[in-house]
Amino acid sequence: MPRLKVTIVGSGNWGSAIAKIIGNNVASSDDFDPTVTMYVYEEIVEGKKLTEIINEQHVNVKYLPGILLPPNVYAEPDLVKACEKADILVFVVPHQFIHRICSSIKGKIKPSAVGISLIKGFVQAENRGIQLISALIKDMLQIEVSVLMGANIASEVAKEQFCETTIGCKDSFTGSILKKLMQSENFRVTVVDDIDTVEICGALKNIVACAAGFADGLGLGDNTKAAIIRLGLMEMIQFVDQFYSGANLATFFESCGIADLITTCYGGRNRRCSELYVKLKKPLKEIEEEYLNGQKLQGPLAAEEVMFMLEDKRVVDKFPLFSAVHEVFLGKMPPEKMLEVLRNHPVHK
Ligand code: NAD
Ligand code: 13P
Repeated sequence: MPRLKVTIVGSGNWGSAIAKIIGNNVASSDDFDPTVTMYVYEEIVEGKKLTEIINEQHVNVKYLPGILLPPNVYAEPDLVKACEKADILVFVVPHQFIHRICSSIKGKIKPSAVGISLIKGFVQAENRGIQLISALIKDMLQIEVSVLMGANIASEVAKEQFCETTIGCKDSFTGSILKKLMQSENFRVTVVDDIDTVEICGALKNIVACAAGFADGLGLGDNTKAAIIRLGLMEMIQFVDQFYSGANLATFFESCGIADLITTCYGGRNRRCSELYVKLKKPLKEIEEEYLNGQKLQGPLAAEEVMFMLEDKRVVDKFPLFSAVHEVFLGKMPPEKMLEVLRNHPVHK
């Protein structure tokens, strides 16, 4: 069988961390081409092109400093060139950029390629609903798309600290190839076929993380955070039940579900910036720019996307936590009021 060529579309914090694992895996397997191409959105860092720095120093100094990438990870600034020969496309850009990325490579990739999305978020659909990112990629590029979501804070994965992740994949053969590509000693992969639930967990947990950040900003403790995690999980389950029926409840107990909720409500960027939003009372855009050094928040945007649909379907009252997060970011609700919302949550009535 010819060796499969892998391209990583994205080179941010998570894109670079996963490039380390993929680079090492392809180098030690006969199934894959030994060079991994990583599409890098070109920028100048300290007077030099980021692609040149990565290819010469093997470190993404801007988005994953201090971590050595395998030398077989090749940074490519031309998106089409990066993707045209790939058999496996690993999509890992902030979700706000995926539509533009797909438009640029539409009709220019191998028809036999398969995709896997590591992107946590939604896109707004024309019918006032939401579309899953995997569905957008599939529609635009006409390829099969799996997903990978889990409790995977990139800096910890890059340092090879033990964690688990979940691949959602409908086809068992593709699932086994993707597992071979992604799994390492300290990055353990479970493959399930409940792909929509895996992806929705990844997108919705970012909204819950913002609520956890508000609680931190208000100086509240671990009991409150645990309640936010629990109520957030209930809303995630309710959301899948209402809009994507057929989910397996067990999926919420995979790494993509409860585990990602926990890690993200304690360690993630959405949590941290939401805490700062409450404490500093500055616009979120300013906080993102000041504290994330080019990295992008997904939670506030996901809340907006979800609320758009919930309002249209007139079911906002079933999702008071998601709704409160959106209202706080819009400046329509003081963060303290979120607690009142939680106190009156439908599960307590
Ligand atoms: P990031 O937040 O580090 O984002 C920065 C990336 O966006 C950089 O590569 C930058 O070059 C790129 N970028 C900026 N402007 C762009 C543009 N106009 N077009 C295209 N690219 C542009 O990215 P990340 O952390 O790799 O996140 C990617 C996805 O992975 C997100 O959906 C995130 O939720 C998910 N994720 C992140 C982590 C994590 O710990 N960082 C963990 C799991 C999943
Ligand atoms: P943040 O984007 O909030 O850092 O979350 C990272 C993540 O998804 C960990 O699994």
